[in-house]
Amino acid sequence: MRRVLILGGTAEARALAAALAEDPGLHVVSSLAGRVSNPRLPVGQVREGGFGGAEGLAAWLVEERIDALVDATHPFAERMTASAVAASSATGVPLLVLRRPGWRAGEGDSWQRVDSLQAAVTLLAARDRQRVFLTTGRRSLPLFASLPDVWLLARSVDPPEPPVPPNAHVLLARGPYTVEGERALIREHHLNVLVTKDSGGTMTAAKLVAARELGLPVIMVNRPPLPPGAHLVDAVEAAVAWVHDG
Ligand code: NAP
Repeated sequence: MRRVLILGGTAEARALAAALAEDPGLHVVSSLAGRVSNPRLPVGQVREGGFGGAEGLAAWLVEERIDALVDATHPFAERMTASAVAASSATGVPLLVLRRPGWRAGEGDSWQRVDSLQAAVTLLAARDRQRVFLTTGRRSLPLFASLPDVWLLARSVDPPEPPVPPNAHVLLARGPYTVEGERALIREHHLNVLVTKDSGGTMTAAKLVAARELGLPVIMVNRPPLPPGAHLVDAVEAAVAWVHDG
């Protein structure tokens, strides 16, 4: 029986685990970082928690006799992907990176792309009276809250580390979201800019439609580049085929 490790934490990772579970010739283990308090679990065997860097992951792959590794983590899970590339090259276990496509601006969108959260902060710092819809994750809240002339509606799955800054209101929620809901939030809180990471996918894309409709500018943080040597696909079906062909 071939043994497959999926590095997960995304809807695509769960879909891949479900698709591979149908194959009796495969044993699939999904791995979660263990950060979200009540994660949506994939079908099949699940392990949680870090491996201890690239070396820890390499040791785990050998110990568990893994034949194929799929990194289906979030496009911004940069350290995990770097570990996966390094562990694959150290052990010879073949690696596939599964990443949903990024978002693209269309007609009527007013997006400004930046390469880092810090660059987004710098852009905001140059503007007056920003009321920000912040969806870049709870760990980025302190970075934005340090700006003097900014109010934040910070939405995240789990609460940020307390204390919540006085210029922020935290909204705990988990997608999928609707355009109506996003429009209502933008209006209710008089938001005048959206700051988001280019996560891609449909679960959280409604905010972009609402922003377009309401003429809200968007600061879009680009994905970190993939490490060289990573073999990339952007659809679950392609990852299923790769595992089967291996
Ligand atoms: P990260 O910065 O790349 O990872 C930090 C460390 O967390 C890694 O070095 C690894 O620890 C551990 N880790 C991450 N993903 C893991 C996994 N699937 N299984 C076991 N250990 C894992 O990643 P992150 O941005 O903190 O994201 C953590 C998880 O949340 C990912 O699995 C990702 O898919 C999910 N997620 C992230 C985002 C985001 O915006 N970043 C959004 C939604 C979901 P060791 O070095 O000890 O192995």
